[in-house]
Amino acid sequence: MRLASFTVDGRRRAGAVDEAAAAVAVLPERLGTVDDLVRGGPAALDAARAAADGAPVLPLTAVRLESPLQRFNRDILCTGWNYWDHFEESRGKRGHEDPDRPIRPTFFTKGPDTVIGPGDDIAYDAALSTQWDYEAEIALVIGRDGRSIPESEALQHVLGYLVANDVSQRDLQRAHGGQWLKGKSIDATMPLGPWLTTADEVPDPGALHVQCEVNGVLLQNASSAQMAFPVARLIAELSRGMTLRAGDVLLTGTPSGIGSARDPQIFLDDGDLVVTRVAGLGELRNRVAATALV
Ligand code: MG
Repeated sequence: MRLASFTVDGRRRAGAVDEAAAAVAVLPERLGTVDDLVRGGPAALDAARAAADGAPVLPLTAVRLESPLQRFNRDILCTGWNYWDHFEESRGKRGHEDPDRPIRPTFFTKGPDTVIGPGDDIAYDAALSTQWDYEAEIALVIGRDGRSIPESEALQHVLGYLVANDVSQRDLQRAHGGQWLKGKSIDATMPLGPWLTTADEVPDPGALHVQCEVNGVLLQNASSAQMAFPVARLIAELSRGMTLRAGDVLLTGTPSGIGSARDPQIFLDDGDLVVTRVAGLGELRNRVAATALV
């Protein structure tokens, strides 16, 4: 099932998307939002599946899709350097920060106010930063609480997958000591969606194709098979001694091709169109738009 979020008559609703038909079945209001379904366990998803048959159907063009997830337990959890080719392309370009290949995954977080919908504008303010970079990523949402989850059981805790773009401000990251909070948490800069594809529709999260295009030019193009630490390992490592709860979102890292590692460098500008795509999970289309942030 592909769960989408949109507003009908002023109320946020959940829908089940039929991609082939370019249509969405509007689920009954009693089932709640996608956030409610994510926290409702298998029974809620079963109820949504059952209700999708016979629910009123709208063409996808008749709704404006919002971020499928709107209610966050905490910051968005993120993975750094999770594709070796991306780790290597940034060697010598991180300022004073240039570590050896890690033996465990690197994690950081982004504030929930970063999140925007699959067609929303990416906020851009040159007074804040002149180095806005794109990072196409596979995101996952946890569906079952757990702590110290064994790698062998980790995928059972994943409710589903989405597409995200971890838009970053490189000069801000460096101006504040090479850390990953400033430059990763600017409001309205992280598209998420276009819908939440439940895990049963994703037989192997290690075989997903990730792409990012800017103004029609393909700049990132990779398989999740190239991940340094696969999804199950990420969950096992992140949950060691730290409870992951239904609704927690984890970004799994970006492949090579980011703008700051290119020669010459490419940074996003007002008016650019960023298309972020994961085969089987859908596509985000976001325009970079000048916005007063400071
Ligand atoms: Mg990233």
